[in-house]
Amino acid sequence: MSTPVKAPKENRQTSQPAGRADSPQERKFKRLGLVEPSDFVVHLPIRYEDETRISAISSAAPGQAIQVEGEVLHSEVQLRPRRQLVAVISDGTGRLNLRWLHFYPNQRRQVETGRHIRVRGEVRAGFNGCEIVHPRVTVAGTALPNALTPVYPTTDGLSQPALRRAIGQSLLTADLSESLPDPMLRSLALPSFKDAIRILHAPPAGMSVHELVERGHPAWRRIKFDELLAQQLSLALARRHRRSQRAPALPAADAELQHQLRASLPFALTAAQERAIREISADLTRDYPMHRLLQGDVGSGKTIVAAFASAQSIASGRQVAIMAPTEILAEQHFNKLGAWLQPLGVNVTWLTGKLAVRQRRAALEAIASGDADLVIGTQALIQDKVQFPRLGLVILDEQHRFGVAQRLELNRKGDEAETANQEQRQMPHQLTMSATPIPRTLAMTFFADLDVSVMDELPPGRTPVITKLISDARREEVLSLVHGEVRAGRQAYWVCPLVEESEALQLQTAVDTHAWLTAAFPDMVVGLMHGRMSSAEKQEAMDGFRQGNVHLLVATTVIEVGVDVPNANLMIIEHAERFGLAQLHQLRGRVGRGGGQSVCVLMYQGPLGAVARDRLKAMYETTDGFEIARRDLEQRGPGEFLGMRQSGQELLRYADLQSDSDIIEQARAAAAEMMDAYPDHVYRHLERWMRGRQELLRS
Ligand code: ADP
Ligand code: MG
Repeated sequence: MSTPVKAPKENRQTSQPAGRADSPQERKFKRLGLVEPSDFVVHLPIRYEDETRISAISSAAPGQAIQVEGEVLHSEVQLRPRRQLVAVISDGTGRLNLRWLHFYPNQRRQVETGRHIRVRGEVRAGFNGCEIVHPRVTVAGTALPNALTPVYPTTDGLSQPALRRAIGQSLLTADLSESLPDPMLRSLALPSFKDAIRILHAPPAGMSVHELVERGHPAWRRIKFDELLAQQLSLALARRHRRSQRAPALPAADAELQHQLRASLPFALTAAQERAIREISADLTRDYPMHRLLQGDVGSGKTIVAAFASAQSIASGRQVAIMAPTEILAEQHFNKLGAWLQPLGVNVTWLTGKLAVRQRRAALEAIASGDADLVIGTQALIQDKVQFPRLGLVILDEQHRFGVAQRLELNRKGDEAETANQEQRQMPHQLTMSATPIPRTLAMTFFADLDVSVMDELPPGRTPVITKLISDARREEVLSLVHGEVRAGRQAYWVCPLVEESEALQLQTAVDTHAWLTAAFPDMVVGLMHGRMSSAEKQEAMDGFRQGNVHLLVATTVIEVGVDVPNANLMIIEHAERFGLAQLHQLRGRVGRGGGQSVCVLMYQGPLGAVARDRLKAMYETTDGFEIARRDLEQRGPGEFLGMRQSGQELLRYADLQSDSDIIEQARAAAAEMMDAYPDHVYRHLERWMRGRQELLRS
């Protein structure tokens, strides 16, 4: 890329000595996260310009940046085809054309015939041979810098020279001492921190710009390693912190409740479910808190696993709280878990924000008195008024839907409950459940402090959902599909398009679609469900659908999470091109839950952009949640998976989860060794890389 030309006047200004860092500039630095000298030190270039060499004009090749010196043979202002300044220089090896489409009078003087000039810019093939458009011009013969010129990520109104100056200064004052123990540094064969930093800010002349920009240079490896190591270390500390906390051991010496639960089920558990139940069961017997993620694709049967975990806690005399992200889902859990556990003598209570005052008071009393064994609810469960006298286990369903604050709050909950009645603080065990598979590299990094149980198997007898891509223009076809299914006694979902710009518009779309479908199918009951309905209305809509009274349910994405109606085997998603891959997968997971063949129709409006086409293609090609997650990571980066862990800051600035997996492995091993053998280095390293960010990683 060529650097835009700057008028010499500007050049003169920016080369004046540094001004005092006044507060507008400080504010700009802050926007880049630059406050302490140590922040500036690890603000690293995105690319470099090589001003260290003068090349022969004969070596100029299109597409490459070059710096040459030569004598101006000729220059003139041409008026056609448009007004422009052109010049020709020569250094004896060849000629080079220069061209300016905008120019100042003094630029014209700079290239008067006979002058010796130094010229830098990107060469391209012009009509009369090689040329540079808008080259940077200085006087020939001045001293050359002996390092490559760094170009930093910056923000509006903050010039490169200002950044360079500030970073240069911080390199003189900041602590650049080594944070890795000597033997480790030697065995890793990485450069020291100081060397790596110096090289990256000012690479010596002759160093390969390509290697630096592609970040394959050992100095870059060192920085990425440091960053990943810091992350591994904070996760290790979080884990150690957790191990040092106390939790009630839940041995369930009397396993009668679990036996009864198993005996009452109308189906046999899958091997994957059995394994998950065993792993969780073992964790619960320990006297430090479990932090386990139960991860299984939509429909893999996570709820029953949660029921077994609950049974173990309850049999050990401890309460269980299950939290779901939506009222609908909480209610569904209440019905399901109630049906499984209530007959076995478990007191199941439910608590949401929308309960009537009297019901709410009764629920709160049952919880506080300890009568309620299993409490199911929404965020309302973490409100101040809810007191659990003997909380043993907290289960979070669809964990990626919850924010950091809520998770931290939940942790505190257990803390409070116990400090109230004894000196030894106890935390509840924590089980989180998610249908979003975490790709391997993420599991090794951002989620490395969690234990994970994976359910990679669906209950038997499910036929994979058939996915059809149908253009919006063929609406009639879709209507007859719906008609056919409902005739055959089945039910269908109709998901309205996402309107990201406006919630009101989204609502309107749902209402319009409902009216239109009601008119199109006079012999059917068409239901409607959207986020703005009261929870009672939503429940009514959902109940009608679950009981089979409603044939076709028009809904916004409120149904995305967890809804389970086995008789629904057709899903229509309008404007599927507007949804993300993970979301489409979740939506599609609502069908294919009973026997029989299910179909998911992705309606789209062309023409499709490349990204949307890839997404729909992925949906068409696979129903495997892991494969979908992998492609999603490829298309969109890790943000989607992190949910609660996102800090708003860039999570990893230099390392790349996809291409640096070998460095992740190294950093993992090194973190374990450092935790064991070099505790002082651990803190020094974290101080440099994680200032003020540990709390977030622990959430
Ligand atoms: P998810 O993992 O998406 O939360 P659910 O727990 O809602 O899945 O289970 C999906 C459906 O599969 C439910 O109707 C559930 O009763 C049923 N189910 C769960 N386990 C089995 C099994 N082992 N065999 C048959 N059906 C099962
Ligand atoms: Mg579920």
